[in-house]
Amino acid sequence: MITRKNETKASGSFINRLRQPDIQLYRKVVQYLFLATVGLIGIKFTIFVSQLESGTLPTVTRPPGIEAFLPISSLISLKYWLVTGIINPIHPSGLIILLMALVTAVLLKRGFCSWVCPFGLLTEYLNRLHKLIFRKNIQVPALLDYPLRSLKYLLLAFFLWAIVLNMNAAALEYFIYSPYNMVADIKMLYFFADITPFAFWVLVALVVLSIVLRNFWCRYLCPYGALLGILSFISILKVHRNTDTCTNCQKCTRTCPVDIKVHKTARVISDECHACLQCVTVCPEKETLYLSAARRNAILKPLAYAVIVCLLFVGGSLVGRLTGNWQTVISNNEYLFHVQNLDMPFYQHNRGRVPDYDQAAWLRMMKRIRAAQKPKPRTR
Ligand code: SF4
Ligand code: SF4
Repeated sequence: MITRKNETKASGSFINRLRQPDIQLYRKVVQYLFLATVGLIGIKFTIFVSQLESGTLPTVTRPPGIEAFLPISSLISLKYWLVTGIINPIHPSGLIILLMALVTAVLLKRGFCSWVCPFGLLTEYLNRLHKLIFRKNIQVPALLDYPLRSLKYLLLAFFLWAIVLNMNAAALEYFIYSPYNMVADIKMLYFFADITPFAFWVLVALVVLSIVLRNFWCRYLCPYGALLGILSFISILKVHRNTDTCTNCQKCTRTCPVDIKVHKTARVISDECHACLQCVTVCPEKETLYLSAARRNAILKPLAYAVIVCLLFVGGSLVGRLTGNWQTVISNNEYLFHVQNLDMPFYQHNRGRVPDYDQAAWLRMMKRIRAAQKPKPRTR
């Protein structure tokens, strides 16, 4: 039983933690805030789709944030925007969220991975399990680590080759307005809700591998992380080490989840550093490790980092809403049509290629369905 005295002590230490700058507390708060947001989005979208399945028009609004889970569609939207100047109205928030992640990488290194992404949070818990099982952090030998790390860059290179190099404006538009892309969010929900045995065992294998090899998904396979890692090279913010006050205790290196030799460098320049600031937290020497634009001249306080990360994402979504680039133009009537016809071949995809469809006829039909939902002008 917790005594009153202990309660006061516990709450006091929590309040003290809130008062004193505690980097990891800020990070956890931000991570859980984003996790709660993602959870709410998932619940709302599931209700939205289940109402469509029952043949009724949804009473809940489709949460635009669901498009954060359509990274390939968003990459296609990004190129389409760059070559045409048009933000496509099918999945506009996917593009806004991708842009926010890219801006975060340029400004704040891979802060997206360790402050925002729910898979990053899951990875941290799997890392704890790793330590619990093996009693220490097992380092992957460099001979295996470097080839494995290149996998995510190969995956990224494949997507960039397929999208950036091989798709012209017409091909991008053909994909964006395809039946397949219009229901990509619903398909993604079905993938998890009605998972095939093969996909299930792949997910189990990924979890097991992530327990055995720390950060397996983020470090070796995530092409999104690879893209952010490349951009983070140009980020002006880096973790710096004051070599004058460093006692070479190596606590920073031992705690780094991606095995960066922090104690050997004056400035962490690595695509793997995701700005978790765990090294800064454990360093026992005052102001020896810090996040800064230049050595000690522009130290960024952890609280400021947390605020900037949140502002970037909240601000980005606000800009999207205010400019009308947040919610899809697909109407509820159209969604009802899609869900009722989801088994038709043109909603499927063949090895990443959308099936042939008559784009003009398809868009005319969607326009008619959308118009049917609009209230008719009142007659006198
Ligand atoms: S170097 Fe520091 S901030 Fe970067 S990943 Fe390692 S512990 Fe995190
Ligand atoms: S934890 Fe701090 S004092 Fe210890 S090696 Fe790292 S930078 Fe130096």
